[in-house]
Amino acid sequence: MLRTRLLLQTEREAPAEAEIVSHRLLLRAGMIRKVAAGVYTFMPLGMRVLDKVMAIVRREMDAAGAQEMLMPALQPADLWQRSGRWDQYGKEMMRLTDRHDREFALGPTHEELVTSLVGAQVSSYRQLPLNVYQIQGKFRDEIRPRFGLMRAREFFMKDAYSFDIDEEGLAKSYDAMYEAYSKIFTACGLDFRPVQASTGMMGGASSHEFHVLADTGEEEIAFCDTCDYAANTEVATYSRPQAENEEALGLEEVSTPGKQKVEEVSAFLGVDPGRLIKTLIYQTEDGPKAVLVPGNREANAEKLLSVLGEGPTLMDPEDIEKQTGIPFGFAGPIGLKIPVIADSAVAEMVNAVTGANKNDYHYTGVNPGRDFKVDETVDLQTVKEGDRCPECEGTISIRRGIETGHLFKLGTKYSEALGATFNSESGQIKPMIMGSYGIGVGRMIAAAVEQYNDDRGILWPASIAPFQVTILPLVKEGDDLWVTAHELHDTLEERGVEVLIDDRKESAGIKFADADLIGVPVQVIMGKKAAENGEAELKVRSTGERMNVSLSSLADDIIRMLDESS
Ligand SMILES: [Zn+2]
Repeated sequence: MLRTRLLLQTEREAPAEAEIVSHRLLLRAGMIRKVAAGVYTFMPLGMRVLDKVMAIVRREMDAAGAQEMLMPALQPADLWQRSGRWDQYGKEMMRLTDRHDREFALGPTHEELVTSLVGAQVSSYRQLPLNVYQIQGKFRDEIRPRFGLMRAREFFMKDAYSFDIDEEGLAKSYDAMYEAYSKIFTACGLDFRPVQASTGMMGGASSHEFHVLADTGEEEIAFCDTCDYAANTEVATYSRPQAENEEALGLEEVSTPGKQKVEEVSAFLGVDPGRLIKTLIYQTEDGPKAVLVPGNREANAEKLLSVLGEGPTLMDPEDIEKQTGIPFGFAGPIGLKIPVIADSAVAEMVNAVTGANKNDYHYTGVNPGRDFKVDETVDLQTVKEGDRCPECEGTISIRRGIETGHLFKLGTKYSEALGATFNSESGQIKPMIMGSYGIGVGRMIAAAVEQYNDDRGILWPASIAPFQVTILPLVKEGDDLWVTAHELHDTLEERGVEVLIDDRKESAGIKFADADLIGVPVQVIMGKKAAENGEAELKVRSTGERMNVSLSSLADDIIRMLDESS
């Protein structure tokens, strides 16, 4: 490919709104262009990367026995009404009304459509199992689209759906997808981790996320340094230290003037913060509820959601005082007239410290169960670095990740709602058992850039780079070396190498800067000086390694190098 024929405009600067490195570099390298907030065009150079990722995804999905199809983005509302998600999705769903006043959505996902479709096509256990997938644009009306391809309003997904006759079949389909995902992420050259995850809005029993590890990731993942345990911190657990065998003391009200915060109270009373019980009052749909966690721990938002239902909000101090009479900083569960939900560690505490529900006083010698009633005991804590692994003696580390793939065991939620049933071998009509499996294809590209970049630009993994080789002739048009460079270009192209030659009338500096920015893995630098010795310079973009290679064997050497690195 001739650079002068390529629709490519690189930029020195990225707009200020581009907050993260992948957004900045994909814009600067001319891979994507913004059309509206969260809506992007893949330019030819970006399209080449997208094509490569899609080809890897297709190869592994096909190998795992999934069949490609293509469903429309435009979906009638009634499908979504039947599953109940027309209302559940809220404002994130892009909706529109046609000229006949019929309501539609631009699909954020395709469970409803595919379930209704397969339900209509399949009627016997003999036609199952089945796994279908597509690669397609999806829509989500993000309240604040940002981070470029990472959180766009229109975005490319690979979504697959499996249909089985029983749980055992689902487990097999799920494992096959898990394997395929591991191969896809590996083939894209990414450093990734599969982790246990929350099922959230999808419902269903079990879920894994595939995270690309990057310090800029939006999510935290906890993983063990010894075994395979890895989970999103939304759901991660840890092994609690055994409660010490201590004799229960009597309840005592102690004066703690002006000591409201955990650190202040623990310092004042000379007790470990882990001995304090933090009492958080949440407003829920069923009125205020108290949530108790140890003083040295945070309540986990995702776990709270599953206990308190939709949209619990931490009540502000004024409302608490107005509604319950409890002064800020001195709340405690003793004598409280609202439901009490305790983290399981709190429920096991002996001789704890809590607020006394009056100004400037705390209780010591508090024993849950004896001194106050716990209505519900659940795991509410957020895992921390250094915690003990729940499955072995290992230690938990926390790293940041970019969620790029997600696997769900859906069960029968959608097949029951949308009538996807089959005749079983024994003649019974049963709902199909489903799984759904997504990969953010555009997000995968952004995640790759987050993982592989330096201060000059992108360092594409070879398997998804827009070109394999770029030739930089640093002489004038008509020079012998200019001709040699073009001959090399043609030879490489004939031999199946994806090659870009920078044939612009630009300075060496501009050509170097652009080549580094767009991140083609191998640069062939053809300058006058090296040519006098009958050589060109090869530069490996990712390592900066340089070597001189004889012009006479250049094509062979490049191809050998590409073969060795792939
Ligand atoms: Zn472990």
